Amino acid sequence: MKSIAVFCGSSRGKDPAFSEQARRLGGSLAEQGIRLVFGGSNVGLMQELANGALEAGGEVTGVMPRFLYDKGIAHTGLTRLVLVDTMHERKMQMNELCDGVIVLPGGFGTFDECFEMITWAQLGIHQKPIALLNVQGYYDPLLEMIRRMVDQGFLKDEHHGMLILSSDIQKVLDTMHDYTPTHTGKWINGEQ
Ligand code: AMP
Repeated sequence: MKSIAVFCGSSRGKDPAFSEQARRLGGSLAEQGIRLVFGGSNVGLMQELANGALEAGGEVTGVMPRFLYDKGIAHTGLTRLVLVDTMHERKMQMNELCDGVIVLPGGFGTFDECFEMITWAQLGIHQKPIALLNVQGYYDPLLEMIRRMVDQGFLKDEHHGMLILSSDIQKVLDTMHDYTPTHTGKWINGEQ
C-alpha cells in the first residue's frame, strides 16, 4: 500500500485522545513509507494528522476545493496541494490518489466521505479497503446502526463485512495491507 486517504473531523472533538490518535496515525503512515492523502486543511484533527505525518518525514498530499482554499485554511507545509473545483471532484481525486481509506472520528463531512467510499465499494466502483479507526469507541453507535441495517434487510452481511474496524492503528494498517476483496457487487443478474 503506497498511499492512504484519511477522512477526519475539521474539529478536534472534546477528548484529547482524538488529537493524539490523529497525530499518531500520521506518524505511523510516514514511518511505514505510506503517503497521506487528506482534505488539505490546517484545522482540527486534519491538522494533527498532517503534522504527525510531516514531523515524521512523511509525504502529504492535500486535496481541497478552491472555495475552501480561499478561506485561508489550507495547510501551507504540505508536500503537495491539489486544488479542485467542487467537493465532488475532491472525493473523486482522493479516491484516485489512494490505495485505501481510514476514517477517524469526525462529523457530517467525515461521514459523507466515508459513506461515499463504502457505497462505491459496494457497487464495485473500487475494491479498496476501508477502515474505521474506532478511537474511544466513537463509532460504536454507528456499528450498531449498521448491524440494524443487516437485521432489517437493508444491507447484505458481506457488505457489512467489507468494513475494517479497530481502535488499534497498527492492526488497521496490517489488516488493510492483507485485504483481499471477497464481496460480490450489489447487483447480481438484476437481483439484489
Ligand atoms: P467534518 O467531519 O464535518 O468536520 O468534516 C471533515 C471532512 O470534510 C474532512 O475530511 C474534509 O475533507 C471535509 N471538510 C469539512 N470542513 C472542512 C474544512 N474546513 N476544510 C477542509 N475540509 C473540510
